[in-house]
Parts: sequence; structure tokens; C-alpha cells
Amino acid sequence: MAKFKGFSFGVFFVGSIALNIFFLTNNLCAGHVNKQQLSWSQRAAAEAEAVASVSCSGHGITYLDGLFLDEKPVCECNSCYGGPTCSHFLPDCVADADSGDPLFLEPFWMQHAESSAVLVAGWHRMSYVFADQSYMSQVLQNHILKVHSIARNAITKGKYLVFGGGSTQLLSAAVFALSLNSSSLARVVAASPYYPVYKTQTDFFETAHFEFQGDALLMKRTSNSTGNAIEFVTSPNNPDGLLRKAVLQGSSVNAIYDHAYYWPHFTAIPAPADEDVMIFTISKLTGHAGSRFGWALVKDEDVYLNMLKYMQLAELGVSRDTQLRALQLLKVVLEGDGREIFHFAYEKMRDRWEKISQIVSLSKRYTIQDIPPQYCNFFEKVRGPSPAYVWLKCEREEDTNCNAVLRGANIIGRLGSLFNASDRYVRLSLLKRDDDFNLLLYRLKELVSKEG
Ligand code: PMP
Repeated sequence: MAKFKGFSFGVFFVGSIALNIFFLTNNLCAGHVNKQQLSWSQRAAAEAEAVASVSCSGHGITYLDGLFLDEKPVCECNSCYGGPTCSHFLPDCVADADSGDPLFLEPFWMQHAESSAVLVAGWHRMSYVFADQSYMSQVLQNHILKVHSIARNAITKGKYLVFGGGSTQLLSAAVFALSLNSSSLARVVAASPYYPVYKTQTDFFETAHFEFQGDALLMKRTSNSTGNAIEFVTSPNNPDGLLRKAVLQGSSVNAIYDHAYYWPHFTAIPAPADEDVMIFTISKLTGHAGSRFGWALVKDEDVYLNMLKYMQLAELGVSRDTQLRALQLLKVVLEGDGREIFHFAYEKMRDRWEKISQIVSLSKRYTIQDIPPQYCNFFEKVRGPSPAYVWLKCEREEDTNCNAVLRGANIIGRLGSLFNASDRYVRLSLLKRDDDFNLLLYRLKELVSKEG
């Protein structure tokens, strides 16, 4: 009997392997996928691959949640391209260099299609909380710390981590947290030219505890005592790419360091940042602005607890789906020696900056910011600039509105006054797709060549 059992088990075992091989090779070789035979993950994968395999002529992209026509995904074309497969270039189209959409990293993620894809099960983290009753994935926290240790851009030891829906939410959380325990009104400032959201957001969410007061440099020049102040310090700065330190000093001044661009992509890292409140975002690290994920490193426990409270009251923490996506992206960032994305992004940004610089150097009418070469803690050598934006100035006396001048050449930038600077300045984004950048380059070349 035992012998028979052993025999039948053997037949069953070999048979089962043969069947598995049969089904597997059938599925793989058939080229098309029989949905009935697939498990839930394979079906999801097949659906994603089918959408991604639609060609948009290299000038567009299809998405799982995009429009479908006759059951076929519709191409979403890059700006200045049209037609069903995005193959038509629209020659009179405007070169739009306004937004800071970091799509220059799209090719990196296409090169890492396999490792960066993430499949979300229907029952993935349905609860409000993780097992430790928190709103933050411990594994994601560990990955963030590792990324900082490779980029060598921040001291994380002795700091608390807070997640936010992009750094935008954390900027607001930090203002609330820093102003909550103060006895008098906190005056919120930033040195011009500054990122416009500091003003618009602070004005919009103003409470009895804080209000926006404008330029930190003006405050320093005009008042002996700053009183209770919160200074946004953007380093490197948006729009001009320069590394910055707080302008205001004193026991009643708190700084919020916005380090959205403090990555080797965009700047030399002279030393790891070690400020009391530092804010980072995957928008500018991996390019996934649409996922809405950022984090703050906070030294003081009370400030940290107030920021956590803000996140709890505003949103019960960041979406667990977003945290899963961020984790997968950071796993790819950390693959190998963890340096690939920084090299890729730096090369791209440096190349763009050099091309723009070369064109503007031929002009007498326009200038761009000067960013000195600096020692970089990440590359361990002196390196040149690779900023996210061009801060272009119209030098002719009559060109008081530089954006209008560029508009005449079919270029859209962001007006200087939005950054609390003169309208002789315009910010041009270098962060968008190759198609956008190439058109900007072409239009700038035309503009400069007509100057003489
Ligand atoms: N800070 C600065 C200086 C920025 O330029 C941006 C985005 N343009 C942000 C914060 C907001 O980034 P996020 O997508 O993380 O909200």
C-alpha cells in the first residue's frame, strides 16, 4: 500500500510539473494572454503592458486611467504634437517653459520599467493605520534615510520624519507647527526672489498665529528687531538656483529649509544639510510630482508632534497607495550603488544648462544667472551648475516686461514679479520633457539670432 502511495504521488508530482510547464510555456509563447487562466496579478500586468505597448511616435504616452476609444488607449501627446499617434508637429506652437513639471526624468523610469512598476492588490492597506497604529510606513522611512545617506545631502541622525502630501502640504504644516506655541504673531517671510507659494499659501491659510510679511531682506534692513518670525529658506533657490542661508537670525526666528532641489541633479552639495526643519519631495528627486509625496526632517520634538498633528487633522496621513508607490520608486533609486539616478539627472540638467548658456552668451539683450562651480560632497569634486530654472534678465532699458518680450518670440515663462522680483526677469523651466526643452532652445536661438 505504501509503495502504491509513493508511486501515485510520484505520478502526480511529475504530472503536475508537466502541466505547469505546459501552461506556462503556452501562456508565454502564445503571445496573447487568455484572461481565464491568469491569476489577478498577471491580468493586471497584461492590462498595463497592453496600454504601454501602444505607440505614440515617441511624442506622447498612454495611461491606464486615460481615455479609451474603441477599446484602444488614446495617446496623450506632448505639447506641440498632435494627431492620433502624436506624429504631427505643430510648427507655430508656443514653447511653454512656465511650469516646474519634472518630466525630464520620464526616460529614466522607462529604462527601469520592470523594477519600478508596482501592482496594487484590491485589499492593499485598506485600514486607516499601519500595524503600529501610525500613518507612516516604517519601511519607506528606512528607504528615505538610505537615499539621504547616498546623496550625502542631509544629516538624518537625531531627526524625526514626517510625511506629507508633497512638500506643499509640509510647508504649511511647518508654519502651523512653528507658530502654535508662540505668544505673539509670527511674521512669515522669504528673501526675494522667492517661490510664490510661500505667500499664496500663507495668506490663504492665515490664522491668528501667523501672517505673511513679504521680503526677509527688507525686514532685516528696516527693523531693529524681527520679533517672532518664520523664514522660508529655499536652497537651492527657486527661481535662481543659488544656495542660500537664512537672512534673519535670533532666538525668536525659525527657519523652514525648503530643500526640494537639494539633490545632486540640480546643485553641488557642499555639505550635508543639518537644519532644524528641512523639507524634501519626491517631485524633484524622482520626478513623480503627480504622486504627491514629500517628507520633513525635524529636530525639535514639539515641532515634530505639531506637524504630525497637522497631518492627522488635515488628511489622516498620506495615502497608503502613494506610500507604496514611493517605496517602489526609492527601491529603484537604491538599486546597485544607488547613484545611477543622480548621474542621469545631473548629466541631463547640466547639458540643458550648457546649451542655454551658450545661446544666451551670444546675446547682448539677455543675461542669465551666474552660478559658480563648487565642491560637491556627492561627486567628491568641484562641479559646474545644473539648475532647474533659467532666471533670465532683459537688459535693454525699454524691456521692462521681459515676459512680454519672450511672448513675442513664442516663448512662455513665469513673470519675475510673481517671485517678488522685477518684471525684467523671467523664469524658464528646464525640467520638462526633451520635446519641450528642444523647442525652447530653438525659439531662444531664433530670438537671439534676430537681435543684431
Ligand atoms: N518648494 C519649491 C521650492 C518648489 O519649487 C516646489 C515645486 N515647484 C515645491 C516646494 C512643491 O513641491 P511638491 O510637489 O512636493 O508639493
